Amino acid sequence: MENRTEVAIVGAGFAGMYLLHRLRGMGVQAKVLEAGSGVGGTWYWNRYPGARCDIESIQYSYQFDDQLQQEWEWSERYATQPEILKYAEHVADRYDLRRDIQFNTRVRAATYDESASEWTLQAEDGATLTARIYVMATGCLSVPNKPDLKGLSDFSGPVYHTGEWPHEPVDFTGQRVAVIGTGSSAIQSIPRIARQAKHLTVFQRTANYSIPARNAPLDPDYVKSIKARYKEFRAEASKTPPGIHAVFNPGSVLDASPEEREAAYEERWQKGGLIFMGAFGDAMLSHEANAVPAEFVRRKIHEIVKDPEMADKLCPKNIIGAKRLCVDTEYYPTFNRDNVDLIDIKEQPLKEITANAVVVEGQEVEVDALVIATGFDAMTGALKNVDIQGRGGARLQERWADGPSSYLGLAMADFPNLFTVTGPGSPSVFTNMLPTIEQHVEWIADCIGYMNARNYRCIEATQDAEDEWWAHCQDVASVGIKGTTDSWYIGANIEGKPRVFMPYLGGYPLYCQRCEEVVAEGYKGFAFS
Ligand code: NAP
Repeated sequence: MENRTEVAIVGAGFAGMYLLHRLRGMGVQAKVLEAGSGVGGTWYWNRYPGARCDIESIQYSYQFDDQLQQEWEWSERYATQPEILKYAEHVADRYDLRRDIQFNTRVRAATYDESASEWTLQAEDGATLTARIYVMATGCLSVPNKPDLKGLSDFSGPVYHTGEWPHEPVDFTGQRVAVIGTGSSAIQSIPRIARQAKHLTVFQRTANYSIPARNAPLDPDYVKSIKARYKEFRAEASKTPPGIHAVFNPGSVLDASPEEREAAYEERWQKGGLIFMGAFGDAMLSHEANAVPAEFVRRKIHEIVKDPEMADKLCPKNIIGAKRLCVDTEYYPTFNRDNVDLIDIKEQPLKEITANAVVVEGQEVEVDALVIATGFDAMTGALKNVDIQGRGGARLQERWADGPSSYLGLAMADFPNLFTVTGPGSPSVFTNMLPTIEQHVEWIADCIGYMNARNYRCIEATQDAEDEWWAHCQDVASVGIKGTTDSWYIGANIEGKPRVFMPYLGGYPLYCQRCEEVVAEGYKGFAFS
């Protein structure tokens, strides 16, 4: 690769693409290194059947260019993976981004040279790229979690991980298929696989709450009405905690009458989607309040799933909303099909995988294909996969051995001139990722512009600022009950991963306000040289 640039960006998902475009607009030279052969990040890799976004398409798109958002036409309420990928490719073409993206290049190491104040990135093939500024735009959910399932390598049929799905269509017709896992990826793919396969067995470790998506083609009049006031619509969205345009009732579920609770949750169940949890403001504040929506969904599961034993197994026992809520199309009804079985591997532990079967306690299930839907090494996985060595030999992998820490999810002490987009400590996964990415990218680009205008060569978060922000993140996470359940938010899905609450739970508006204050106070908490 050409081995020098001003800003080296890792990742050509929505963050890396926009940062490249933004920097170009400022006259700053930048280059993107991308492991895949195309743009799109998460939407490039996650091609499993049924993959679609659980944020409405009209909101899950860039807003930095009004012409782009006016011209692009989404076809459904929730866009499919192929449509989102097409959008990412359209953006790459529209802004001529590909000429500065090097594909098929996985970065393995990045080392800071203190004397020159610059980073050298090393790719898997040994090629290097040196840059003054280095940005990790590698996403929160980009490193597949591949549990060490005994005997998996002995399996003679195909094995697919939802997060690394083949680019060619996979045909399960006539096959006996196993899906391991029941998170969002599984919940989206199971109904589709069930319709095609001869038989499907779902191996569930923890039942998940899922709300119907009520997906449908977008009504042209509705789209027209949003586009007529897209800017205001986006501004209104940015004032809500998740940065999503929706009605969030701040009222208390505990103060509501049984009829009011029922009506509120029924209305949101019928509307569909993640806003189900917005019916009352305190559902994540106490177990007592949380039990109301949790019980509502359990009752719905029993109404939909005809076999009461199957329905029992599908009913989550944990609190609702602590793990990421799932949004589905026909998930629970799929378990009424004759060709679908469910095995609870907490009741019947998974023993091993053989050449042609998944063996659980007391049962051997013969299968032709395996779908591993076990999620990701979230939030820190991609950052720790690169051996990042900062000032004085500081290694990020060692620094984060007991869990991550960061200033605003943007920068870390001892790692000068390194920025992360939606790193730990950013509201990231609790928000609509696209506007949050845009906010981070604009903050980083403005910061680079500020440095260039003053001839600053280096920026570094101070340890005090990082410690203070991280303590604040942990304080906020300790309010309510979100952190009380095992989830990938706290690293509980990966064996041996430190249990630390990683995203910032204070919401998008407060986060943005803090970022703006930092700038207004001359980049408070950062040192320049
Ligand atoms: P996930 O939510 O982490 O789910 C992984 C599933 O695999 C869980 O059911 C988990 O069980 C199970 N599992 C993990 N390790 C296992 C093991 N060793 N043996 C058996 N089962 C195991 O992963 P995901 O479904 O890929 O979703 C991850 C996140 O990506 C979502 O939460 C969401 O934020 C995002 N996503 C979004 C969409 C969307 O926009 N609609 C779609 C897909 C993904 P436990 O619960 O017991 O750990």
